[in-house]
Amino acid sequence: MSTVRLEHVFKKYPNGFEAVKDFNLDIADKEFIIFVGPSGCGKSTTLRMIAGLEDISSGDLYIDDKRMNDVEPKDRDIAMVFQNYALYPHMTVYENMAFGLKIRKFPKEEIDKKVHEAARILDLEHLLDRKPKALSGGQRQRVAMGRAIVRNPKVFLMDEPLSNLDAKLRGQMRIEISKLHQNLGTTMIYVTHDQTEAMTLGTRIVVMKDGVVQQVDTPQNLYDKPCNKFVAGFIGAPQMNMVAADVAESEGKVYLSFSGQNIRLDDERAAVLKDKGYIGKKITLGIRPEDLHEEADVAYANTEACIDAEIRVYEMLGAETFLYFDMEHSNWTARVNPSVKVKPGDKVKLYMDTTKLHAFDIDTEEAVFN
Ligand code: ATP
Repeated sequence: MSTVRLEHVFKKYPNGFEAVKDFNLDIADKEFIIFVGPSGCGKSTTLRMIAGLEDISSGDLYIDDKRMNDVEPKDRDIAMVFQNYALYPHMTVYENMAFGLKIRKFPKEEIDKKVHEAARILDLEHLLDRKPKALSGGQRQRVAMGRAIVRNPKVFLMDEPLSNLDAKLRGQMRIEISKLHQNLGTTMIYVTHDQTEAMTLGTRIVVMKDGVVQQVDTPQNLYDKPCNKFVAGFIGAPQMNMVAADVAESEGKVYLSFSGQNIRLDDERAAVLKDKGYIGKKITLGIRPEDLHEEADVAYANTEACIDAEIRVYEMLGAETFLYFDMEHSNWTARVNPSVKVKPGDKVKLYMDTTKLHAFDIDTEEAVFN
């Protein structure tokens, strides 16, 4: 059992900079939690406070209900894997993995058992006699993880462990880490600024901005129900399309107009805007690229939620096609079926799936509906 709890945690660096503000989170046993957000949002600082490498300015940290604020890092029973892991170049893979246990004076047989077990999990058994310079980047990263695994920690902390690897290797290692989590069943906290890593690895994701937690949710809920405009724009690639739209009511129906386009909302979303007093005001309208359908896709030929687009760029990716066009002053993308054939300069009609629309308050940027 390894739970982690942060209560009203703040971090103020000695220069007065407040890097983390009122962080609250309950991490259950065996969870795979991701901290994600743009550079400088406080992800690593939070992780380092959990590891004990940074002091907590105020608030409380508990591991398995034991307050950890003043416990030495080595006594917290956690293991950390960094982006810049350093293996000992003169030692073999086996010796690198065994080193931490050796200095803790573990019996030789126990070290041997743990190293072989970790090597089996990480598929390193055939490499145990090699030195790091004779390994690929991905293999070295696996050795770094092996060093952490042999310690059998309560909690694994990983800070961008894959960011030094090339794209293909990152993809492979992502799958390895996912398997590792399933096999070990250890609570994991993983920092990344890569939203694909966040979405594919996490059981829950913590989205941060400027030291403040924006939303804590499952990958699916973050994608489908972002709590504000920042989360909506941060999660998802290509990004959610957004535009400022005027809300108007006519004969009981609610319309959104923007950039010469006019669409009618379905009754459910119309009611939300009416109830919340948005008629006659502006909102930020959001729609994901896959919820815009080209006219050939008749299933979505809702003529009351149709926009005209002049295609700027057409990108055929095999399984899908991206159509890029301008809406007001922003770049929009439609992710359509590869059977759709258009050329740059073509004018097409794109149908919105209005059940997938998002709306955000212009001022607070909070979600009005999802
Ligand atoms: P990245 O993805 O770039 O690693 P991050 O979200 O992990 O970013 P942190 O490393 O946690 O960000 O840093 C959060 C903020 O705190 C940044 O603005 C950073 O400049 C600042 N910061 C970090 N360490 C210190 C320090 N020792 N003194 C003052 N400010 C610091």
